[in-house]
Amino acid sequence: MKPKVFVTRPLPAPALELLSSACKVRSYPEDAAIPVAQLAEACREVEGILVNSARVNEEVLAAAPRLRAISNCGVGYDNIDVAACNRRRIPVTNIAGSLEETTADMAFALLLSTARRVAEADRYVREGQWKRWQSGLLHGLDVHHKTLGLLGFGGIGQLMARRGRGFSMRVLYHARRRAAESVESELHAEYVDLETLLQESDFVSLHVPLKPETRHLINGKAFSLMKSTAILVNTARGPVVDEAALVEALRSGKIAGAGLDVFEHEPRVNPELTGMDQVVLAPHIGSATGETRLRMAILAVKNLLALLAGERPFNIVNPEIYS
Ligand code: NAP
Repeated sequence: MKPKVFVTRPLPAPALELLSSACKVRSYPEDAAIPVAQLAEACREVEGILVNSARVNEEVLAAAPRLRAISNCGVGYDNIDVAACNRRRIPVTNIAGSLEETTADMAFALLLSTARRVAEADRYVREGQWKRWQSGLLHGLDVHHKTLGLLGFGGIGQLMARRGRGFSMRVLYHARRRAAESVESELHAEYVDLETLLQESDFVSLHVPLKPETRHLINGKAFSLMKSTAILVNTARGPVVDEAALVEALRSGKIAGAGLDVFEHEPRVNPELTGMDQVVLAPHIGSATGETRLRMAILAVKNLLALLAGERPFNIVNPEIYS
């Protein structure tokens, strides 16, 4: 008998075919986050869930006594109550290795767009404001040879370092643990404490997961340490930044701009941000290319199939359940 699985958003056809070849699949039909109560109801008899931006909490787990595999179609897994999964010894996987390059591209795109006022320039031309060439028009900030500060130096942070080197930037990073010397020397990246990173960087780009200790890591105090010419880029998770403090920092000129793909209360965006020209906004599209979204879905399916077959895929996020 094929195991029953539930998928929280429609999958691309090749991924659905692969999953259906080994499982009895039911999917939430909408490209939207399934409400928790509905997910709990849908999971009563399933052995596996393929989660795509849905919340899997105690309520869902308690309703699913046969559940033995959770595959998250994302690198960040703050949507899943991993401690509750651990109590039930349910393995959880993510899709590390499938979307980092694409997300780093987006982070660098936001960095460049904010520094060179690309979105604002686009609006200026579309609105018919461009009447003649002017030497003082839309001055931005140089990116090349500036200092790039990476908070978080895992998959995406390190790929940002590579992009920064391509623009002849000095690269600083901070994480709880220092990277191997070979990584630092290959990427020409310098380990610094958080305060130094904030004080010396022209661009501060966030690449930490959302956890209790990273919530509001970038707050009013952090903004007061940053250069008044600095730009913040956030493609990590919205709540890593205290959004009210960010608005205040931009309004008062404590920092020069921000490029944001993620927000504290997504999809709600602070209306003050939408009114600011020095801010470039994107609707959480860090990994949104056709190729990458397909790769992500296939990897999430392969992870789920491996877990259901009793295997341990390399990207288990709670290996402690096996000890
Ligand atoms: P990763 O490989 O797990 O790297 C995370 C980095 O953060 C590591 O260097 C880690 O090092 C560091 N870190 C963790 N806790 C920290 C703390 N308290 N203080 C300082 N550093 C800390 O993750 P990734 O693949 O680079 O992805 C980063 C995040 O980006 C994900 O968690 C996800 O939320 C987000 N993301 C967003 C999109 C999007 O569409 N916008 C797409 C993909 C990922 P230590 O453990 O040594 O501190």
